[in-house]
Amino acid sequence: TTSPLAGRVALVTGASSGIGEATAERLAALGAKVAVAARRKDNLDALVARIAAAGGTALAVPLDVTDRDAVTAAAEQITDQLGRVDLVFNNAGVQLISPIEDLQVDDWQRQIDLNITGVMNVIGAFVPHLTDAAVAGGSADLITTSSIAATRVLEKFSIYSGTKAYISQLTRLLRVELGRKMVRVATIEPGMVDTELPDHVTDPDASKLMADLIHDIDVLSPADVAQTVAFIASMPRHVNLTEITILPTAQA
Ligand code: NDP
Repeated sequence: TTSPLAGRVALVTGASSGIGEATAERLAALGAKVAVAARRKDNLDALVARIAAAGGTALAVPLDVTDRDAVTAAAEQITDQLGRVDLVFNNAGVQLISPIEDLQVDDWQRQIDLNITGVMNVIGAFVPHLTDAAVAGGSADLITTSSIAATRVLEKFSIYSGTKAYISQLTRLLRVELGRKMVRVATIEPGMVDTELPDHVTDPDASKLMADLIHDIDVLSPADVAQTVAFIASMPRHVNLTEITILPTAQA
């Protein structure tokens, strides 16, 4: 039996670590060709080598998704080299939590630039390719990474939560417009996943909160989330899983 992902061509952003890296590997193992994007070129090259060694096909696309021209150029490069793009995992994001009164305005801006503008740059450059793929009769998927922070009230998470609430609501709205064109739109809302995400947090209380959670319970692995993304894209073309919350069993 052929894998439902055989012949698909995917872009994964945030593929140099964590959820994106694991998802790129999973999609490639299931037969998709995968373009992997992030800033750290060395990590991407190592990932591409691992995928190739396992018999898959991958292309490293080092870029900063907040740079709209770079994202536009990447769309051209990927479609030239891999033929098309019919699966976009719009995943790169950063979490910099702090109390609002600390006025960490640079951190606020970094989250807005990456989690919102970066995601929109990818949508602007790749939606035309997704609709092309759907018109040609194949499956097409736009999958974003939101968070349980999109709906939960977590102290100090205000800016991050706001960016993820934007992603969840954006996904609902895009689904209506693009679903009509047979492009599936989905978002995943993970709880705690063991990745590099907490490493960037500077607020000591917030860092401790996440470190404690990782220490106390069996949190999700990036591979758990990757499996979910692959599942969404593997459904028959007329089935759109729209919003999936993935929590570690023991996380409240
Ligand atoms: P990581 O920090 O491990 O991964 C983040 C990825 O984004 C890295 O590959 C990083 O690569 C990339 N990235 C950062 N800045 C840019 C940029 N300017 N341009 C391109 N790529 C960039 O964390 P996760 O895997 O956990 O995060 C992935 C997504 O999952 C994020 O959207 C996050 O908000 C979300 N999430 C994570 C949860 C968790 O508990 N871990 C829970 C819920 C949601 P590089 O630095 O090389 O550019």
